[in-house]
Amino acid sequence: MHLLGLYLHVPFCRAKCAYCDFNSYPRLEHLHERYVAAVRQELTLAGREYGRLDVDTLYIGGGTPTTLPPALLCQVLDQCRQAFVVRADAEISVEANPGTLQPDALTALLRAGVNRLSLGAQSFNDQELRLLGRIHGVEQTREAIHLARHAGVRNLNLDLIYGLPNQNLAEWGASLEQALQLAPEHLSAYALSVEEGTPLAGRIASGELPAPDPDLVADMYDQAEQCLARAGYEHYEISNWALRAATGCASPFRCRHNLKYWHVEPYLGFGAGAHSDWQGERWSNVLHPLEYVTRIEQRQSAVAERTPISSADSMAESMMLGLRLMEGVDRQAFARRYGCDLLRVYAAPIAELQSLGLLEHDERSVRLTPRGRLLGNQVFGRFWPPPTPQRTGP
Ligand code: SF4
Repeated sequence: MHLLGLYLHVPFCRAKCAYCDFNSYPRLEHLHERYVAAVRQELTLAGREYGRLDVDTLYIGGGTPTTLPPALLCQVLDQCRQAFVVRADAEISVEANPGTLQPDALTALLRAGVNRLSLGAQSFNDQELRLLGRIHGVEQTREAIHLARHAGVRNLNLDLIYGLPNQNLAEWGASLEQALQLAPEHLSAYALSVEEGTPLAGRIASGELPAPDPDLVADMYDQAEQCLARAGYEHYEISNWALRAATGCASPFRCRHNLKYWHVEPYLGFGAGAHSDWQGERWSNVLHPLEYVTRIEQRQSAVAERTPISSADSMAESMMLGLRLMEGVDRQAFARRYGCDLLRVYAAPIAELQSLGLLEHDERSVRLTPRGRLLGNQVFGRFWPPPTPQRTGP
């Protein structure tokens, strides 16, 4: 039985970034207290319904959780502990924007048990940060990291984005180097995704800015892989690196909460738009914070959509998400979980992807090749729709 992960969504931001289509909203400060009360209520009801389950990862994401006053964030953490049994060694992460980090907030969060901070640095180039519409500059990011270290943060993640319009390899390399000088324990690097309806997409569509060039983006990914390997980071997921352990074991800084998603393990989400995956069902809450708050206040369910997940669905997800990991999908774990050999269930797509040089396998696992990592979405798409379940034995 897997221990549970909890995700808490804070949908507030100081301002909306130019590329962002996440479920986040500026100018809703007047909702902060009601929102936190609603999340606490949702947690209480879940605790009653599921019976104080054991939790080993807790992730407060957004949005920008640190736009909430620290006292409110601590109330949410406290409610988690009342509704669930949060293990003493649980990983407790909070996302923060460098423009919203105050020393007193950090101290309060650490005291409340937070032991991992994920900072949206995005770039170490002020011009790029302006293009992205971030509310902070490079100096503020450095300051936030300094504050975090001073407060006692020992597990720090930095998020970076590459493939920006007009960004070249040298600029991306410089951002990476500057991030590494700050010695984060973990680093996430994502290629910019131009989302329809965002101001950035509008500027690209009008021809004011060039669209990202896929070949250059691939080169930037290669550059990140090489640079981070040299700096002693373990590449454990397509977009994620963790500082290598001295012993040669898996890095202790891999994000345990996100590993639950990639391993298709259970989690419960709370707050506007939060998703849950529990006991063969997946559901998500209404997106807008006001609708979420109103529903909870009126003693109605916040769930917008609920879908049963069949074993075949779960199998397909285990492939699509597990292949994101460098170690790939473990064949024995798959056989134990689903009662079948993945090489037989997916014989056709695996053979095809292997012949294209995108996938490889051995006795232990099925994995993406370096080329497959560049074309991940095309590979994952070959495992959907799910197969007709068949039990063929491990
Ligand atoms: S801080 Fe993050 S969630 Fe908020 S608007 Fe910017 S990208 Fe979106």
